[in-house]
Amino acid sequence: MPGIELVCCPVNALMKKLPLMRSCKEVTALVIAREDRDLPLAEQLALRVHMAICKACPTFERQVLTMRHAMKQWRNYGADNDE
Ligand SMILES: [Zn+2]
Repeated sequence: MPGIELVCCPVNALMKKLPLMRSCKEVTALVIAREDRDLPLAEQLALRVHMAICKACPTFERQVLTMRHAMKQWRNYGADNDE
């Protein structure tokens, strides 16, 4: 089927033309990296731009935040039950 890749993320076709554009692969790496360290301003901006125009990456970001929240609760649960 022609054009089926475009359904996934048409944004990726524009990536190389604009300096603040990142591919979905790069953005997911940034979302993960952001869990451990502060991103440079340019990367934060690129992340925002991408999230505004991409359908898939905001979903991924939500899942990461859900995971982080769950891990935090799990950690606190362990701490609460220590003698
Ligand atoms: Zn994306």
